[in-house]
Formats: sequence, C-alpha cells, structure tokens
Amino acid sequence: MGNADFSELRKIMVREQIQARGITSPDMLKAFNEVPRHIFVPEEKRNLAYEDCPLSIGSDQTISQPYIVALMTDSLAIRRGDKVLEIGTGSGYQTAILSFLGARVYSIERLSTLAKEAQKNLASLGYNVTVAVGDGTEGWRENAPYDKIIVTAATPQFAHSWQEQLTVGGKIVAPIGGKLAQDLIVADKISTKHLSTRLICSCRFVPLIGKYGFKE
Ligand code: SAH
Repeated sequence: MGNADFSELRKIMVREQIQARGITSPDMLKAFNEVPRHIFVPEEKRNLAYEDCPLSIGSDQTISQPYIVALMTDSLAIRRGDKVLEIGTGSGYQTAILSFLGARVYSIERLSTLAKEAQKNLASLGYNVTVAVGDGTEGWRENAPYDKIIVTAATPQFAHSWQEQLTVGGKIVAPIGGKLAQDLIVADKISTKHLSTRLICSCRFVPLIGKYGFKE
C-alpha cells in the first residue's frame, strides 16, 4: 500500500468512524485526516491501521481505536497553546493528534522500548513533543501546571498528583475502574480541591501500572 491508498483509507475512517458518530469540529476532522496513523502501527499491521478497532503494538500494549482517541481528544476541547500532560504514550498516535491541534505535549510512558519508538516516529513526522520514560501515576511535576491531562491506560481513580498538577479551569480525561472494564470520565477542575465529572461511555483499556495505579 502506498501513501495515496493510506490517505484514502484515512478519509473513510474519518467519515465513517468519527464524523458519523458525532464529532464534527473542523479542526478535529482535519487532525484525523492528516495525521498518518499507519506510521504508529507495527509495519506488519499497517494494512489494518484505519480499521475500527484497537491494535497490538507489542509489549502487551495497544494503540487505541480511532474513535476512542477522537472522543478523548474532543472531551478536552484542546486549544492552541494548551499545555497537555499525557500518561501512556504507547504508539504516540494520540500524542501526534494533540500536537497537530496545537497543544504543547508532555508525554510519559512506562516502557522504554515503546517510548523510543514513539519518539522516533513523532520526530520523523516533525511533531515537537517531549516524551519521558517513567511512572505517570505521579504526574510530571517539573512542567506543571497543565491545562489538560489525558490518561490512556485504565486507572483506579484520578490520582492525587494529577489533580494537583492541573490548573483550576483545566480538564482531565481517564478510563476509571477495574483492570478489566472502566468508565471513560472527563472532569473539570472547578476549584483547587474540586472536580466536576461527566461520564462519556464505558470502555476497556490496558492497565496503568505504577505507584498510584495497579500492581504488575
Ligand atoms: N494512547 C496510546 C495508548 C497506549 S496503551 C495509543 O493509542 O497508542 C497505554 C500505555 O500506557 C501503554 O503503552 C503502557 O505501557 C502505558 N503505561 C502503563 N502504565 C503506565 C504508567 N504508570 N506511566 C506511564 N505509562 C504507562
């Protein structure tokens, strides 16, 4: 498959999986039309990159289904210049979408092989993001506060460190629940001590492993 074929598949993905399900902001549609998702998928699976499902990226981890990436991104109402903390870089695809939308992204990944691969792909496409290897359940204090925080692995709760590192007026989205099933929840930080939450849908993510996450 060549770039023209991938670009055609991408248009169909946007039309059928994203636009048809109610995401209509022109900036969002442009981001999903332009970020080459297949680059973030292992070479032998590139023909499946625009399918309506998550895919394995090795090390027991997955790249999320396109629609879930769109839902999570949409729930954060990203504006140009927003400082965003991402927990769970994985393939780097979600990172690329955030960066395309003009966010300044700080992304943490627990597994160094994935972080390296993601960083390589992001750099080769010209996205200027900062990826670090570490335990994202503690947030990333050095660059705090953040306007938005996105957690792309299942977590038992909104960790205290994330709530602290989010600005008042900021938003955080995460799949919250047990290891096997979660609710995707977005919250607004309405004061220094309070979050106002809204349920988006039920979902299933790989677990967040760390100090304030799940045990290995
Ligand atoms: N948005 C990514 C999702 C990757 S899956 C994508 O679409 O490609 C979730 C990722 O979270 C995995 O790569 C996993 O290794 C990582 N992860 C798990 N626990 C973590 C932790 N404590 N800190 C940072 N990353 C973590």
